[in-house]
Amino acid sequence: MTAASPSLAELLRPVKHVLLDFDGPVCSVFAGLPAPEVARRLRESLLATGEQVPASGETETDPLALFRLVADTRPDLAAATDQKLTILETEAVLIGRPNAGGEAVLRACAETGRALSIVSNNSGPAIEAYISSRGLSTYVSGVFGRAPGDPSSMKPSPRLLLDAMKATASKPAECVFIGDAARDVEAGHAAGVSTIGYANKPGKDARLATAGAAAVVDSMHVIAKALS
Ligand SMILES: [Mg+2]
Repeated sequence: MTAASPSLAELLRPVKHVLLDFDGPVCSVFAGLPAPEVARRLRESLLATGEQVPASGETETDPLALFRLVADTRPDLAAATDQKLTILETEAVLIGRPNAGGEAVLRACAETGRALSIVSNNSGPAIEAYISSRGLSTYVSGVFGRAPGDPSSMKPSPRLLLDAMKATASKPAECVFIGDAARDVEAGHAAGVSTIGYANKPGKDARLATAGAAAVVDSMHVIAKALS
Protein backbone atom coordinates (compact mmCIF):
# COMPACT_ATOMS: atom_id res chain seq x y z
CA MET A 1 0.00 0.00 0.00
CA THR A 2 1.35 3.45 -0.85
CA ALA A 3 0.75 6.90 0.60
CA ALA A 4 -1.64 7.66 -2.25
CA SER A 5 -3.78 4.59 -1.64
CA PRO A 6 -7.35 5.81 -1.16
CA SER A 7 -8.25 2.82 0.98
CA LEU A 8 -5.86 3.77 3.79
CA ALA A 9 -7.14 7.36 3.77
CA GLU A 10 -10.71 6.06 3.69
CA LEU A 11 -9.99 3.71 6.55
CA LEU A 12 -8.62 6.60 8.62
CA ARG A 13 -11.24 9.23 7.74
CA PRO A 14 -13.84 8.27 10.40
CA VAL A 15 -11.15 7.63 13.01
CA LYS A 16 -11.19 9.88 16.07
CA HIS A 17 -9.05 7.69 18.30
CA VAL A 18 -5.89 5.93 17.17
CA LEU A 19 -4.77 2.95 19.25
CA LEU A 20 -1.09 2.29 18.77
CA ASP A 21 1.05 -0.68 19.70
CA PHE A 22 4.37 0.35 21.22
CA ASP A 23 7.16 -2.16 20.47
CA GLY A 24 7.79 -1.80 16.74
CA PRO A 25 5.52 1.08 15.72
CA VAL A 26 6.90 3.60 18.25
CA CYS A 27 10.18 2.14 19.46
CA SER A 28 12.18 -1.04 19.01
CA VAL A 29 12.22 -1.77 22.71
CA PHE A 30 14.99 -4.36 22.74
CA ALA A 31 17.28 -2.82 20.10
CA GLY A 32 19.81 -1.66 22.72
CA LEU A 33 19.30 -4.20 25.50
CA PRO A 34 18.51 -7.38 23.55
CA ALA A 35 15.45 -9.45 24.46
CA PRO A 36 17.48 -12.63 25.18
CA GLU A 37 19.61 -10.64 27.66
CA VAL A 38 16.48 -9.27 29.35
CA ALA A 39 15.10 -12.82 29.56
CA ARG A 40 18.41 -14.02 31.02
CA ARG A 41 18.37 -11.28 33.68
CA LEU A 42 14.75 -12.06 34.50
CA ARG A 43 15.66 -15.72 35.04
CA GLU A 44 18.65 -14.69 37.13
CA SER A 45 16.45 -12.56 39.37
CA LEU A 46 14.16 -15.54 39.99
CA LEU A 47 17.09 -17.80 40.81
CA ALA A 48 18.51 -15.12 43.12
CA THR A 49 15.36 -15.34 45.24
CA GLY A 50 15.75 -19.11 45.46
CA GLU A 51 12.99 -19.84 42.94
CA GLN A 52 13.19 -22.31 40.09
CA VAL A 53 12.56 -21.27 36.52
CA PRO A 54 9.98 -23.53 34.83
CA ALA A 55 11.88 -26.04 32.65
CA SER A 56 10.35 -24.73 29.44
CA GLY A 57 11.49 -21.22 30.37
CA GLU A 58 15.18 -22.07 30.59
CA THR A 59 15.80 -21.32 26.93
CA GLU A 60 13.04 -18.75 26.37
CA THR A 61 14.50 -15.64 24.71
CA ASP A 62 11.33 -13.53 24.71
CA PRO A 63 11.03 -11.81 28.11
CA LEU A 64 7.27 -11.32 27.80
CA ALA A 65 6.76 -14.99 26.91
CA LEU A 66 8.93 -15.90 29.91
CA PHE A 67 6.82 -13.68 32.17
CA ARG A 68 3.65 -15.34 30.86
CA LEU A 69 5.15 -18.77 31.47
CA VAL A 70 6.22 -17.96 35.03
CA ALA A 71 2.84 -16.41 35.84
CA ASP A 72 0.98 -19.39 34.37
CA THR A 73 3.01 -21.98 36.27
CA ARG A 74 3.63 -19.99 39.46
CA PRO A 75 0.87 -17.39 39.90
CA ASP A 76 2.40 -16.52 43.29
CA LEU A 77 5.49 -15.17 41.47
CA ALA A 78 3.57 -13.15 38.85
CA ALA A 79 3.60 -9.80 40.64
CA ALA A 80 7.30 -9.90 41.59
CA THR A 81 8.32 -11.13 38.13
CA ASP A 82 6.36 -8.32 36.50
CA GLN A 83 8.04 -5.77 38.78
CA LYS A 84 11.48 -7.04 37.82
CA LEU A 85 10.54 -7.11 34.12
CA THR A 86 9.23 -3.54 34.38
CA ILE A 87 12.64 -2.40 35.67
CA LEU A 88 14.39 -4.21 32.81
CA GLU A 89 11.96 -2.85 30.19
CA THR A 90 12.45 0.68 31.51
CA GLU A 91 16.21 0.26 31.14
CA ALA A 92 15.66 -1.17 27.63
CA VAL A 93 13.33 1.54 26.26
CA LEU A 94 15.73 4.31 27.22
CA ILE A 95 18.40 2.76 24.97
CA GLY A 96 15.91 1.32 22.45
CA ARG A 97 15.60 2.54 18.87
CA PRO A 98 12.95 5.21 18.30
CA ASN A 99 10.84 4.85 15.16
CA ALA A 100 10.68 8.31 13.58
CA GLY A 101 7.61 7.28 11.59
CA GLY A 102 5.82 6.23 14.75
CA GLU A 103 6.54 9.55 16.38
CA ALA A 104 5.24 11.22 13.20
CA VAL A 105 1.96 9.34 13.70
CA LEU A 106 1.75 10.75 17.23
CA ARG A 107 2.18 14.27 15.90
CA ALA A 108 -0.25 13.71 12.99
CA CYS A 109 -2.94 12.63 15.44
CA ALA A 110 -2.46 15.77 17.53
CA GLU A 111 -2.47 17.99 14.45
CA THR A 112 -5.72 16.46 13.17
CA GLY A 113 -7.50 16.49 16.54
CA ARG A 114 -7.44 12.74 17.08
CA ALA A 115 -6.90 11.10 20.44
CA LEU A 116 -4.00 8.65 20.59
CA SER A 117 -3.56 5.84 23.08
CA ILE A 118 -0.65 3.44 23.38
CA VAL A 119 -1.89 -0.13 23.79
CA SER A 120 0.92 -2.54 24.53
CA ASN A 121 1.93 -5.77 26.20
CA ASN A 122 4.92 -3.88 27.57
CA SER A 123 4.87 -2.33 31.01
CA GLY A 124 2.93 0.94 31.29
CA PRO A 125 5.59 2.63 33.48
CA ALA A 126 8.33 1.67 30.96
CA ILE A 127 6.29 3.14 28.09
CA GLU A 128 5.63 6.30 30.10
CA ALA A 129 9.36 6.63 30.80
CA TYR A 130 10.04 6.47 27.06
CA ILE A 131 7.28 8.93 26.15
CA SER A 132 8.46 11.48 28.67
CA SER A 133 12.17 11.02 27.82
CA ARG A 134 11.36 11.79 24.16
CA GLY A 135 9.19 14.81 25.03
CA LEU A 136 6.08 13.15 23.58
CA SER A 137 3.74 13.32 26.57
CA THR A 138 1.51 16.01 25.04
CA TYR A 139 0.75 13.72 22.07
CA VAL A 140 -0.45 10.76 24.10
CA SER A 141 -3.93 10.65 25.63
CA GLY A 142 -3.38 7.41 27.50
CA VAL A 143 -0.97 4.54 28.04
CA PHE A 144 -2.50 1.07 28.40
CA GLY A 145 0.28 -1.35 29.22
CA ARG A 146 -0.30 -4.88 30.51
CA ALA A 147 -2.14 -5.10 33.81
CA PRO A 148 0.65 -5.52 36.39
CA GLY A 149 1.21 -9.17 37.26
CA ASP A 150 -1.54 -10.29 34.89
CA PRO A 151 -0.39 -11.71 31.54
CA SER A 152 -3.97 -12.60 30.65
CA SER A 153 -4.44 -8.88 29.93
CA MET A 154 -1.88 -9.09 27.14
CA LYS A 155 -2.81 -9.18 23.46
CA PRO A 156 -4.26 -11.20 21.75
CA SER A 157 -6.71 -10.42 24.57
CA PRO A 158 -8.81 -7.37 23.59
CA ARG A 159 -8.77 -6.13 27.20
CA LEU A 160 -6.26 -3.29 26.82
CA LEU A 161 -7.97 -2.01 23.65
CA LEU A 162 -11.34 -2.10 25.41
CA ASP A 163 -9.84 -0.20 28.35
CA ALA A 164 -8.43 2.45 25.99
CA MET A 165 -11.79 2.92 24.24
CA LYS A 166 -13.63 3.06 27.54
CA ALA A 167 -11.29 5.76 28.86
CA THR A 168 -12.20 8.09 25.99
CA ALA A 169 -15.79 6.81 25.55
CA SER A 170 -15.02 5.95 21.93
CA LYS A 171 -16.83 3.36 19.81
CA PRO A 172 -14.92 0.68 17.87
CA ALA A 173 -16.00 2.23 14.54
CA GLU A 174 -14.29 5.50 15.52
CA CYS A 175 -11.02 3.72 16.28
CA VAL A 176 -8.22 2.02 14.44
CA PHE A 177 -5.46 -0.08 15.91
CA ILE A 178 -1.93 -0.08 14.48
CA GLY A 179 0.30 -3.03 15.34
CA ASP A 180 3.12 -5.14 13.96
CA ALA A 181 2.11 -8.64 15.10
CA ALA A 182 -0.63 -11.12 14.24
CA ARG A 183 -1.70 -11.02 17.90
CA ASP A 184 -2.41 -7.28 17.45
CA VAL A 185 -4.77 -8.04 14.57
CA GLU A 186 -6.42 -10.78 16.65
CA ALA A 187 -6.87 -8.39 19.58
CA GLY A 188 -8.34 -5.79 17.22
CA HIS A 189 -10.83 -8.32 15.87
CA ALA A 190 -11.84 -9.35 19.36
CA ALA A 191 -12.38 -5.68 20.29
CA GLY A 192 -14.27 -4.95 17.05
CA VAL A 193 -11.59 -2.53 15.82
CA SER A 194 -9.95 -2.52 12.37
CA THR A 195 -6.21 -3.05 12.50
CA ILE A 196 -3.53 -1.61 10.25
CA GLY A 197 -0.60 -3.97 10.11
CA TYR A 198 2.88 -2.47 10.23
CA ALA A 199 5.20 -4.89 8.46
CA ASN A 200 8.61 -3.78 9.68
CA LYS A 201 10.37 -7.02 8.78
CA PRO A 202 10.32 -9.27 5.71
CA GLY A 203 7.50 -11.80 5.76
CA LYS A 204 5.40 -9.89 8.27
CA ASP A 205 3.16 -8.43 5.54
CA ALA A 206 1.78 -11.86 4.65
CA ARG A 207 1.32 -12.83 8.31
CA LEU A 208 -0.53 -9.60 9.09
CA ALA A 209 -2.73 -9.88 6.00
CA THR A 210 -3.54 -13.52 6.78
CA ALA A 211 -4.47 -12.54 10.34
CA GLY A 212 -7.04 -10.17 8.81
CA ALA A 213 -5.44 -6.70 8.90
CA ALA A 214 -7.60 -4.11 7.12
CA ALA A 215 -4.45 -2.71 5.52
CA VAL A 216 -0.73 -3.43 5.71
CA VAL A 217 2.00 -0.81 5.39
CA ASP A 218 5.78 -1.05 5.58
CA SER A 219 6.34 2.45 6.93
CA MET A 220 4.73 4.37 9.77
CA HIS A 221 5.33 7.54 7.73
CA VAL A 222 2.70 6.29 5.26
CA ILE A 223 0.14 6.25 8.07
CA ALA A 224 1.24 9.67 9.35
CA LYS A 225 0.78 11.07 5.84
CA ALA A 226 -2.64 9.44 5.41
CA LEU A 227 -3.76 10.87 8.77
CA SER A 228 -2.78 14.38 7.67
MG1 LIG B 1 4.66 -4.74 18.55
